[in-house]
Amino acid sequence: MSKTWNKRTQAVHSGIRRSQYGEVSEAIFLTQGFVYDSPEAAQQRFEQLGDDEFIYARYGNPTVAMFEDRIAAIEGAEAAFATASGMAAVNGALTSMLKAGDHIVSSRALFGSCLYILEEILTRYGVEVTFVDGTDLDQWRAAVRDDTRAVFLEPISNPTLEIVDLRAVAEIAHAAGALVVVDNVFVTPTFSRAFEMGADVVVYSATKHIDGQGRMLGGVILGSEEFIRKTVEPYLKHTGGAMSPFTAWAMLKGLETLDLRVRAQSGAAQVLAEAISGDARLARVIFPGLEDHAQAAIVADQMHGPGTVIALDIKGGKEAAFRFLNALELVTISNNLGDTKSIITHPATTTHQRLTQEQRDHLGITPGLVRLSVGLEDADDLLADLNSALDAI
Ligand SMILES: *Cc1c(COP(=O)(O)O)cnc(C)c1O
Repeated sequence: MSKTWNKRTQAVHSGIRRSQYGEVSEAIFLTQGFVYDSPEAAQQRFEQLGDDEFIYARYGNPTVAMFEDRIAAIEGAEAAFATASGMAAVNGALTSMLKAGDHIVSSRALFGSCLYILEEILTRYGVEVTFVDGTDLDQWRAAVRDDTRAVFLEPISNPTLEIVDLRAVAEIAHAAGALVVVDNVFVTPTFSRAFEMGADVVVYSATKHIDGQGRMLGGVILGSEEFIRKTVEPYLKHTGGAMSPFTAWAMLKGLETLDLRVRAQSGAAQVLAEAISGDARLARVIFPGLEDHAQAAIVADQMHGPGTVIALDIKGGKEAAFRFLNALELVTISNNLGDTKSIITHPATTTHQRLTQEQRDHLGITPGLVRLSVGLEDADDLLADLNSALDAI
């Protein structure tokens, strides 16, 4: 495979392992185990596993390896390890590198389950966690110490779409010898420049844009060959977070159209955000592609595009937001994102209901806030749906 190919070419061709039949579309190797010609061959494979050799699907599988190699090529990473879900990837990346006594600094505006891992699980095993406001570089500087092993962040926060200055945080972290771990779901592999900005480890929930068609759960950890092989792989292959070969096949096919889908969805999101921003029925429209986004300059510097998610703060609080959601005919109410279907959610009563009122206030999750993940529908149809539902408030 040529390393000089552009992302869109890598997305279609990288990682292919053809069988003796010369199939065009990647094969699904639905097998748990692999056969050896002799006990000597089995012994040899257990002693030293070659690139195209496998011993058990929890350790690796040809279809899963194709997905790992392809996403690594697209993201520009040396290596990848695929997992059963995005959370298995976040947990695997953090737990495999941390031990009791280590310190980690994390931005506070995190996906709920990520917050749970940092706040409830890692601390139980003696890892010290400091939370900061991810957009405040002074807080990062004050929190990172000589014994800080890692920093963790989502460069676009959920659901208020605040941007963390990844380049600046990476400089602070690296000066202290800490690794930078990025949950990059909202940025997407299409728009990511995370490794260029200084990330050491990038994690995706493949459930989101990579599948992008609402079918399956998956995740992936990307990093250096050394980190993936020596730190992540031993942990994950023994603790059982492996991606299934069938899922890997769907994700591989998802990668082939990822760029097209994400650019179309992001383009529609831009059209919608521009059309409704300033609308008198809305208190705020937040989209990283809008000129008035608080961190528009960082968006332009650290991402190839603004993502596919818009946040709208509807005047009139929860009641008005619920009337708006109930009046939508095309956009569906659900909590996934990155899907071909446009999806809307009311964070305060669903994804972020576990938080205290004070935490929600702190993160800007107001009662009127809704998060819209823009799909592949025609932008005119989506705009008409949003406008008629706003009328119905
Ligand atoms: C969805 C999501 C996850 C978790 O992914 P799953 O595939 O649902 O386990 C983690 N982080 C972010 C930012 C997400 O959006």
